[in-house]
Amino acid sequence: MILPEVKSKIGEDISIVIYLDNCKWNYIVDCGEASMLSVKDCMNTRAIFISHTHIDHFINFDQIMRHQVGCKERIVICGPKNIALQVQAKLRSFTWNLVEEDAILYEIREIISENKIKVYEMKPAQWELTPLEDRDSLYQDERLLVNYTILDHKTDVIAYHFKDNDKINIAISETSYKPGKWINELKNAYINKDRNCEIEIDQVKYSAQSLFYLLQVEKGNTLGVILDHAAHEENHNKIRNLFNDCDTVLIETFYKDEDKEKAILNFHSYASQSGEVMRKSNVKKAVPIHFSRKYIEEEIAQIEIEFYKAFERK
Ligand SMILES: [Zn+2]
Ligand SMILES: [Zn+2]
Repeated sequence: MILPEVKSKIGEDISIVIYLDNCKWNYIVDCGEASMLSVKDCMNTRAIFISHTHIDHFINFDQIMRHQVGCKERIVICGPKNIALQVQAKLRSFTWNLVEEDAILYEIREIISENKIKVYEMKPAQWELTPLEDRDSLYQDERLLVNYTILDHKTDVIAYHFKDNDKINIAISETSYKPGKWINELKNAYINKDRNCEIEIDQVKYSAQSLFYLLQVEKGNTLGVILDHAAHEENHNKIRNLFNDCDTVLIETFYKDEDKEKAILNFHSYASQSGEVMRKSNVKKAVPIHFSRKYIEEEIAQIEIEFYKAFERK
């Protein structure tokens, strides 16, 4: 189960932590000012997903990185064109002569187009960008699969789609078989679609397929994070394609409808447009995030009213 938490308070920028149930690690989306982001959050992060590097999305990268150096792990950073040089510039602005070479390894995945990703790795003290092989898919680990699309905000903004793995359960008490290593073998056969795999239970051999009826598949949930974007048709089509039927989506809603002109001028979205594109995408739960810092609390409440009115419209 994917459990996102916005770590920025009203008046701050934007930073989100994605937790998973029964999981030691987490993921960070964007590195804006966020006073609810803890040291532990930064230390437990396995990958950072950056939408774009406007200052309100990237200024806190230094603090996050500070808590990660020394972990001796490989941490993945995904982001738009130029992200590798921008991360390198941040790291190179400090002196690292007392830090071991294996203190941390950053792997940067720079999104060039909808199916081309350049990959680099970098480590202290020089933070040279060492190119690795290009990728055509963004990110997958034991739990999470991440896809993306590139939106227009007068610069590329990456919108991310996260999916938790399906869980495969077996109601062992409802069968006459004794538990054993066959359970994992059966689950693996199911995942690998290996129907003819031989499964041995109590010295009797079965085909995997004949036992599949014992398994119950619990679908992993999905989350979308859509940050700064112009509320125009091309962006909306991309959003509807990637986030169709998503369980939860957090979406940038920088302006109230009254300030629509500013939204258009700054390639941002506004309340009714963000709500409407969520409705058209059949999203189950949509949450407006990332409001202009000039708004006071009542104005943010107004944005939420306008957003949900458009989202829930029949
Ligand atoms: Zn921006
Ligand atoms: Zn922003």
